[in-house]
Amino acid sequence: MTFSTLGLSAPILKAIAEKGYETPSPIQAEAIPAVLSGADVMAAAQTGTGKTAGFTLPILETLIGGPKVRANQARVLVLTPTRELAAQVAESIETYGKHLSLTSMVVFGGVKINPQMIKLRKGVDILVATPGRLLDLHGQNAIRFNQIEVLVLDEADRMLDMGFMPDIRRILSLMPKNCQNLMFSATFSKPIRALARTIVNQPVEISVAPPNATAAKVKQWVCPVDKKRKPAVLIKLIHNNNWGQVLVFTRTKHGANRLTRELEASHIMATAIHGNKSQGARTRALAEFKQGEVQVLVATDIAARGLDIDQLPHVVNFDLPNVAADYVHRIGRTGRAGAEGEAVSLVCADEFDELADIERLINQVLPREGMEGFDPLHVLPASNLSAKPARKKKPKKPNKGRRSNTDGQRRDASAAPKKKRPARRPKQGDSSGEGKRGVWPAKKSANKKSTNRSSESRRK
Ligand code: AMP
Repeated sequence: MTFSTLGLSAPILKAIAEKGYETPSPIQAEAIPAVLSGADVMAAAQTGTGKTAGFTLPILETLIGGPKVRANQARVLVLTPTRELAAQVAESIETYGKHLSLTSMVVFGGVKINPQMIKLRKGVDILVATPGRLLDLHGQNAIRFNQIEVLVLDEADRMLDMGFMPDIRRILSLMPKNCQNLMFSATFSKPIRALARTIVNQPVEISVAPPNATAAKVKQWVCPVDKKRKPAVLIKLIHNNNWGQVLVFTRTKHGANRLTRELEASHIMATAIHGNKSQGARTRALAEFKQGEVQVLVATDIAARGLDIDQLPHVVNFDLPNVAADYVHRIGRTGRAGAEGEAVSLVCADEFDELADIERLINQVLPREGMEGFDPLHVLPASNLSAKPARKKKPKKPNKGRRSNTDGQRRDASAAPKKKRPARRPKQGDSSGEGKRGVWPAKKSANKKSTNRSSESRRK
């Protein structure tokens, strides 16, 4: 199959050829005709499958020769959970639409709103946005939705994880009744299906590969190591193997910063990317990494979600993720579009439960390979796929107050306790009278909830 058989016109085919794509990926082969037919689409596909082109190409096609966009309006709205993903989708639209005279724009928070408001005055054919900033712009009358023809919800599962549900509902309520709705999600868990029922109407359902399938192309292995010695092992791995471009995942922003300093002290050019960094710093870090000026990008899960870095050869899990499905997302950064990839996880004895969860999810015991001179003092127990999952500790009750997740992004208000609790009377000697500041319970301690499809398993 070729792109020209899919019903795309010459200017788009030219851009595809210039990008170097020869054949459509499986999701593109299914999604492009479905979107062109005007149907609603619900697609299970994660990053790395070519899903972005799967919706941007047919959307560009449908916009050709359509009505002119009016002031403060858009014809297509693409919602993404993160700023990075928004920027990347916008970049794809620019790339594939470069021989067309359509306009596109990306809006997200963390940068000034005024220039966005000014730019929107003329209207824009395709608007890519994160939910919070879009609602802010709508609140200021900078954008109206009467002319929307297509709505895309990208990485819907992540939107839910990140607490965007109330924002999404609000945005949906503002959409015209007859617009075409496309929903993409790495997994189709129960909450996602429930959301889908409110968005897509008699959708064409597309599922090209279960979430765990990309893992097959990636050489995955575990390096058992004591926690304290992880930085030294990582440095040795990078030096010994001459790794040129490495994406390293840490669990926390603080951990990302600390590791970056340690790598730099060993003369490895590294930079951190996480929710505390300004948008400018994040964009710069990503650009430097893509251009090879920075050797190691240290990222937290949310910051790294959806990063499109072509043919990334190495991913390191410096810390294992708390949510097993995030492991699959992480290693989805490597072995992309047919390229070979390698993903190594530095695992200490404390992380055995997380490792066991991951191995159960991917239904595979990961091979282990220690590093000479770094044998752990605290031994990582042997894996056993048939062992029962360890019981998770009950989450601590959160205190009151606005909460943010580990990456400093907004969290679902519905996930916070609904009942207003009476103010705690200060105990004698409790000088603050407020108790400790609320910390949202870490995902690690959340209860495990599995659905009837193993590929949909996801801890909430
Ligand atoms: P995505 O899943 O949209 O994040 O795309 C993953 C990667 O695959 C990106 O780097 C794309 O540039 C690349 N890609 C998308 N479609 C194709 C294709 N048909 N052939 C080769 N590479 C592709």
